[in-house]
Amino acid sequence: MKFLVVNLGCKVNRIESDTISAELSEHGCVEGDDADVVVINTCTVTGEAEKKARKATRRALRENPSARVLVTGCAASINPDEFTSIDPRVRVVGKSSVVASALRNGSQGTDVQELATTPRSARNSSTLSEEELATAKDRSAQGYRTRVGIKIQDGCNNACTFCIVHVARGKARSRDVDSCVDEAVRLEQAGVREAVLSGIDIGNYHSQKDARDIDLCDLLQLIREAAPRMRLRISSCEPAGVTDKLLHFIASEDGMVCRHLHIPLQSGSSRVLAQMNRPYTAQDYVALVRKVREIVPKMSISTDIIVGFPGETDEDFAQTMEVARACQFSKIHVFRYSKRKGTPAAVRTDQIPDKVKAQRAHDLSKLGWILRLEDAQARIGDSERVVALENGIGMSESYHDVHVGNDILPGKMKTYTFTGVAKDGIFTV
Ligand code: SF4
Repeated sequence: MKFLVVNLGCKVNRIESDTISAELSEHGCVEGDDADVVVINTCTVTGEAEKKARKATRRALRENPSARVLVTGCAASINPDEFTSIDPRVRVVGKSSVVASALRNGSQGTDVQELATTPRSARNSSTLSEEELATAKDRSAQGYRTRVGIKIQDGCNNACTFCIVHVARGKARSRDVDSCVDEAVRLEQAGVREAVLSGIDIGNYHSQKDARDIDLCDLLQLIREAAPRMRLRISSCEPAGVTDKLLHFIASEDGMVCRHLHIPLQSGSSRVLAQMNRPYTAQDYVALVRKVREIVPKMSISTDIIVGFPGETDEDFAQTMEVARACQFSKIHVFRYSKRKGTPAAVRTDQIPDKVKAQRAHDLSKLGWILRLEDAQARIGDSERVVALENGIGMSESYHDVHVGNDILPGKMKTYTFTGVAKDGIFTV
């Protein structure tokens, strides 16, 4: 059977899509064009992301005229009809059922039942279900990219007023400790030099081992002991998850747990943060960043910021710019607020005009680029481990691109001293 997997959205989706591809390959299926089955792993974080998901579905139908198109992921979970109404060849399936559905369709050409999305039992449980474990499990048989994600957690117990992801993915649940550690060991043995611990709210990770409570920091420690040659990176972590314990552990690891954290800010206005139902003020966030850099002086901090949240005034936006400068972010992902049906913010009457959102996004992106260059400049003369990616570019510990040329093969890790920053913002060595 020939299959294609189209991935859209966040790092967690990327991991899940890779796992689906790996499992189908293990069943003897071949990835390629003119597929029998196309899987589309969708995202619902913005209206634009949903548009892309529908576009990808239409494209898959067009380019694979006899394929069954299985649509899964957050957008499909929230609005299944939006996809099934496109064409009778489209089916919406829960992520944990994708492989079984694909095999059923591809091998026998039979129809699939429409399947429920993530089982309710999984949404309400504090651990990943058997099915979810299957989609998070070992992918070491796969042809690897050089940096690989390990999904340690899914779901979120928060309820930010702009967000539908916590509805799509359900309550927070953590993956079993041994399963995470085993996967890390297999990745290290397969030659992976950087693993990115990922989830929707990984600061919320909690599990048990030998009757001992295990949090994110403990898990990192266990993985480091079991797979000492592999560098670890923590993906996006909410402010509440950035504990002193975690920071001291990162400080003690000499760069093998990257001194880089992605801590979503969302707004630099405490007024807007309260309306977003974020559990901190702008002052709390700035104080956290200060503490992070006291404990880990070279920490690179990247963030997500939404512009144009309903009711956001010029003054609110000015505060966001001010907080961004104060935090000296190494990278800012700027999102224009986009209404998500079913969220409290979507029904507000004080929506911000598109033109204003566009201007704010432009201004903040420009500041983000200036801050990124400043962060890079401040690192000239420093030495960091770099993992080579492709086309002569590597990824530094601090999450900057580095020109490594042909000096090391993709996937290998080597320490370089930065000699300068090229115009494109990439380090020279
Ligand atoms: S922390 Fe907020 S934005 Fe992130 S997934 Fe949870 S509810 Fe959504």
